[in-house]
Amino acid sequence: MQQKIISSETRLVGLFGNPARHSLSPLIHNEFMKNSGIDVVYLTFEFPYENFDEAFIGAKKLGLTGLNITMPFKENAYRLTDRKDARSTIIGSVNTIKFNSSTNISEGFNTDVDGFIRSLEGCDFDWAGSDCLVLGAGGSAKSSVFALMEKSIKKIYIYNRTTWKAEKIKNSYPVKKRIKIEVLEELENRKPESIDLICNCTPLGMKTSGLSELMPIPDGWDLNGVYIFEMIYKPLETRLIFKGKNEGAMIIDGLDMLINQAASSFKIWFDTDPEKKGIREKLINYLNKG
Ligand code: NAP
Repeated sequence: MQQKIISSETRLVGLFGNPARHSLSPLIHNEFMKNSGIDVVYLTFEFPYENFDEAFIGAKKLGLTGLNITMPFKENAYRLTDRKDARSTIIGSVNTIKFNSSTNISEGFNTDVDGFIRSLEGCDFDWAGSDCLVLGAGGSAKSSVFALMEKSIKKIYIYNRTTWKAEKIKNSYPVKKRIKIEVLEELENRKPESIDLICNCTPLGMKTSGLSELMPIPDGWDLNGVYIFEMIYKPLETRLIFKGKNEGAMIIDGLDMLINQAASSFKIWFDTDPEKKGIREKLINYLNKG
């Protein structure tokens, strides 16, 4: 493998999170950087929660180009960022920061929304005519609901085991007259009449949480012709994806989302779209080794 030459001109972008060491973001970004020829490296920083404010200020003062922010720091990043874009303001969390060294201003963005939209574009998904079910009410569910509202989907159902959190999402977005949001209190006896897209924004199916045998929807649902958007990428084929494939569903997996939201961050930092070709295969190789 050809080694990157680091010089006094090399810029730095980082990921702040805890845990962060398991993250695939360094692999993706360093590949983007190599493909684009930009002289920058991407490193991971994992540190205790209480150190976040100092670490953020340090990164700004040291002149880092930008940061990605993951759990549990997204709300803190929102609080400390000088300016926020419209999406992160409504969602209340920031996952990408750009530092402007000449003005000393930090700008906050939420690229999960863009990653979600880009992942569904290109597979002929009919936004305006579709009904969608979002499972979960955490960070990724919020971004997904916001993306669906931005694209003016027909109806959004939200189901979460803690119903009030789903209600909170429903009530926190600006009312768009044409888009109905309904919170479901259960799924077993309450399959919506028509569902075109199911987004799993829970860890049900995830290997590292010990939940890999679990399904976020009832086993009896027929997924023929439905789009399945799975946020999980470990394993790449969750039980939900396996069922969807067997029954003729269209699949968008967690790697699509991960690569697309990373591409949006890259564009924010360097004002150019990264080359994504070949990255998915490299990530799959990497995941298969682990
Ligand atoms: P989060 O903010 O912690 O939210 C998790 C949601 O799942 C909550 O609504 C929670 O319900 C629900 N949940 C947790 N454990 C559950 C269980 N045992 N049974 C039923 N519901 C459960 O997490 P997040 O950031 O939204 O992430 C959700 C999943 O998406 C994770 O697997 C994460 O790795 C993945 N993700 C992937 C990407 C990507 O780029 N591919 C990006 C973001 C997230 P309560 O409200 O009741 O606690």
